[in-house]
Amino acid sequence: MSKHLGSCRCGGVAIEASDKTHFVGYCHCDDCRRSNGTPVASFAGFEADQFNWVNKETLSEWHNGDFSRLFCKSCGSPVAYKDNQVSEVMFFYVGFMADRSVFAPEHHSYHHKKISWLELGDDLPKFNETSYPRPQ
Ligand SMILES: [Zn+2]
Ligand SMILES: [Zn+2]
Repeated sequence: MSKHLGSCRCGGVAIEASDKTHFVGYCHCDDCRRSNGTPVASFAGFEADQFNWVNKETLSEWHNGDFSRLFCKSCGSPVAYKDNQVSEVMFFYVGFMADRSVFAPEHHSYHHKKISWLELGDDLPKFNETSYPRPQ
């Protein structure tokens, strides 16, 4: 089985993940924008048994209610988003992954929050809320 690798800029946080990806998508919400400093965030989600921490020496976590943002406290790289309602999945930012070319998003979340000048030109499904199914 080939593995996906991911790491922050300094290497203080690193993962290896299985070749199965659970979720790949864009998110246009303001919280993702602020956490990433980018016009839109994109995620590669892996279930807990699909990835291992190779290094978490400088891993830090900011909690905000039901969710948290993981980042490297040494180099400042965003690492992942975690939602307590779907705690079995870790949503790594595609920019954290080594081979970004394989993580083509499959849908948009919070599409009504998209910045007007951002042109993506795809025909992917567009949701105005999260595209990830949560327990009712
Ligand atoms: Zn780092
Ligand atoms: Zn978001």
